[in-house]
Amino acid sequence: KKELLRRYRNLLKSCRRKLDKNDKQQIRKAFDVAMEAHQNMRRKSGEPYIYHPIAVAQICAEEIGLGPTSVICALLHDVVEDTDVTLEDIRGMFGDKVAQIIDGLTKIKGVEVIDPTNFSIQAENFRKMLLTLSEDVRVILIKLADRMHNMRTLESMTEHQQRKIASETLYLYAPLAHRLGLNAIKTELEDLGLKFTEPETYNTIESKLKETEKKKKRYIETFIEPIYKTLVEMGFKVRIFGRPKSVFSINNKMRTKHVPFEEVYDLFAIRIILDASLEHEKSFCWQVYSIVTDYYTPNPDRLRDWISTPKANGYESLHTTVMAKNGQWVEVQIRTNRMDEIAEKGYAAHWKYKDSAGTHESNLEKWLVRVRELLEHQDLTALEFVDDFRGNL
Ligand code: MN
Repeated sequence: KKELLRRYRNLLKSCRRKLDKNDKQQIRKAFDVAMEAHQNMRRKSGEPYIYHPIAVAQICAEEIGLGPTSVICALLHDVVEDTDVTLEDIRGMFGDKVAQIIDGLTKIKGVEVIDPTNFSIQAENFRKMLLTLSEDVRVILIKLADRMHNMRTLESMTEHQQRKIASETLYLYAPLAHRLGLNAIKTELEDLGLKFTEPETYNTIESKLKETEKKKKRYIETFIEPIYKTLVEMGFKVRIFGRPKSVFSINNKMRTKHVPFEEVYDLFAIRIILDASLEHEKSFCWQVYSIVTDYYTPNPDRLRDWISTPKANGYESLHTTVMAKNGQWVEVQIRTNRMDEIAEKGYAAHWKYKDSAGTHESNLEKWLVRVRELLEHQDLTALEFVDDFRGNL
């Protein structure tokens, strides 16, 4: 009980928006309903089942930046499918919106359970999930949080299940997370996906990364020093740090370029994150760019201005690759705190809640319209649809 309460309090703390009294009451009610419903259930690991919905709710709040409604739905996401509680019970207790989202989540799950090895059922399942996109994008975001937690706890599944779930994650969920701009989640899904589909490859790269860690840290500090000093002198409020590339992306590069680990030249990127008000964002970023290139020579072919023209998933950042003193190429990413928040947690969390940058909204809207059109193509089989959809991603 103590441990449960600890986890519950942690969840409340991770909600970024200030919760009012009603939010708190509803979340508490959802927690109580879920706890009661899952009372005698355990996960494969032996842990009480309720740890899972709490963890999923926490991912929604902390890592995707979703609000109280999503937290409530995440707490309840397995209740209708796995216990005696019905959708109508949920509607009575939490209202139509929560019921609608839970219904979407349950429909996805309903198919999943019948036969997890049947690919056309998996495909149909995925198609159903996307159908819910047109109703409420939160269904997908909660589903991704659910998958994220299942991947983090995959260790306790059988090897066969591990492979099946990990391949599906790499094939569909990671690209979907990418499309929704959830970079942190996408990266972790990819790394875990690789770990469970190709454990040897994963372990080799991971241990090589560990070996070179210290040397790299020193190198990065030396690289950053003059830039940081100058920017602070100019009055900028910045954070600068080295960001190691993920195991998955290193493996990808080794494969596509047919080179060994040692030759994957830009194994890390430097990220400069600065404070700026909306109207100064662009000019401040370019000022920082100008300082960086005062110290290091840029490669003109590798300049990417995702600030003037953001990516379709809402990503904004200024990228350049410069040559360090030892002749090594280093990628430098320049962005504001707001841009970083969107890059890591996804625009989806801001979607429809913020109106500061209308262009991204319409980009996501456009994509949703295309997905809807695809879904309305009745003549496609579920498998054909998934192939189409992946191409579209
Ligand atoms: Mn679940």
